[in-house]
Amino acid sequence: MKPVAIIGAGITGLTAAFYLKRKGIPVTVFEAGSRAGGVIQSLRENGFLAEFGPNTLLETSPKIPQLVRDLNLEPRRLYTNPSAKNRYIVRGGKPVAMPSSPLGFLTTKIFSARAKLAVLREPFVPPRRDGADESVADFVTRRLNREFLDRAVDALVAGVYAGSPEKLSVRHALPRLFEQEQKYGSLIRGQIFGAKDRKKSGEVARSKARMFSFDEGLQVLPDALAAKLGDSLKLNSRVIKLAQTENGWRVSAPNGEAEFAVVIYCGTAYKLAELLIESPAKINLSPFSEIRYAPVASVVLGFRREDVPHPLDGFGMLIPKIENFKILGSIFSSSLFPNRAPGNTVVLTTYIGGERNPEFTLKSPDELVAMAREDLRTLLGVTGEPVFRNVALYSQAIPQYNVGYGKFKGLMNEIESTARGLFFAGHYRDGVSLGDSIVSGCNAAEKISSFA
Ligand SMILES: Cc1cc2nc3c(=O)[nH]c(=O)nc-3n(C[C@H](O)[C@H](O)[C@H](O)COP(=O)(O)OP(=O)(O)OC[C@H]3O[C@@H](n4cnc5c(N)ncnc54)[C@H](O)[C@@H]3O)c2cc1C
Repeated sequence: MKPVAIIGAGITGLTAAFYLKRKGIPVTVFEAGSRAGGVIQSLRENGFLAEFGPNTLLETSPKIPQLVRDLNLEPRRLYTNPSAKNRYIVRGGKPVAMPSSPLGFLTTKIFSARAKLAVLREPFVPPRRDGADESVADFVTRRLNREFLDRAVDALVAGVYAGSPEKLSVRHALPRLFEQEQKYGSLIRGQIFGAKDRKKSGEVARSKARMFSFDEGLQVLPDALAAKLGDSLKLNSRVIKLAQTENGWRVSAPNGEAEFAVVIYCGTAYKLAELLIESPAKINLSPFSEIRYAPVASVVLGFRREDVPHPLDGFGMLIPKIENFKILGSIFSSSLFPNRAPGNTVVLTTYIGGERNPEFTLKSPDELVAMAREDLRTLLGVTGEPVFRNVALYSQAIPQYNVGYGKFKGLMNEIESTARGLFFAGHYRDGVSLGDSIVSGCNAAEKISSFA
């Protein structure tokens, strides 16, 4: 069994390392920071639980509950409260519940009669098959109409990517929509017939997948993985150089160097571009610096229940740009998981910045809190001083799978095929959600165990 080096102890690297170690393959995980988990960051303080990075994990693949089982974390898993099922979208300065059934769609106030007609017409819009890398905005206006883009899709992509639909590529950022058009000729037909294909593969649609976290937040997952890895996890160990040798790769960190048969890079794209690399294959990693990451500030605020008139009977609210608010949206965190706020209080997690307003993330924590409170007052009627507040800034939060992203994926494929034993996995390659990263880590472990 040849040794494997994993760079990055976010959820991707930890998952890959855990499964390799279980197979008896020696692994070393190098993490630049002083803690495991990457962007996952949960904080328990004064009875409140703040989740700055991801809030929930969707069971879109059987590999996700399998990881929870393999770590014996089932007793600590919390599924979201079923009564928090509404998803609000802001229209006319008010949160309006998104329709959850065809009848609800016909009667919703979110869309005009014209937009509703566009949905009925969608199956008859001819598919585009010229292979073009189209933006999400162009795709949605072509298949549906501008109102769908402005009133719904803009808010949804802000919720997932903190991104801009004009820049994001439908093929790379929303691959299921792209495939529905390619395979079934229409999104509506794809919704109906795609369900059968998903059933066969064990995959679950995002809209149907169960959502969960843990009693002490998502940090429980990387903490459990780190505990299983023990000494194999090296914190405060930034890898600065990779040199290809006769038998594999020499990995250099400021505190030493060692040789491995295989290296899996599970860090961020912008740090990948900074790695020094020596290989006869003449690898150039600098193009990865062109992958843009949207900045996001997470503002977590606790309020007395009586200071929030809105019932908070849902997941949260998303806000399209056209509504002109400063915040991108809020998650009703204590409605999803009641153990996140003590006694008669609630906790709301609000996101600011993204590609919509990147400059807002340069503001001070006090200014960010003031911005969040102003919009929460208008939208949810929140009054009174917060009884809990905490702010975290991710200056490079989420990679933007913008038009042209295929170039980066192509480069990764090319390097993997020319530089034997070097692999890439994680959020910058296989999808930006936590679930995508877990699946990416599992797949990397499977691929490497046959190689190592
Ligand atoms: C604010 C925010 C909210 C989110 N919300 C959700 C959500 O609700 N649901 C969801 O499914 N997803 C969400 N996501 C996305 C999801 O959290 C991430 O895609 C996923 O956690 C990425 O994991 P990763 O291991 O690929 O990368 P990361 O978590 O970025 O980890 C990479 C690690 O590599 C390390 N590293 C980099 N370079 C080196 C080097 N040279 N040497 C050693 N170490 C290195 C870094 O220090 C870091 O720890 C959110 C993301 C953010 C930022």
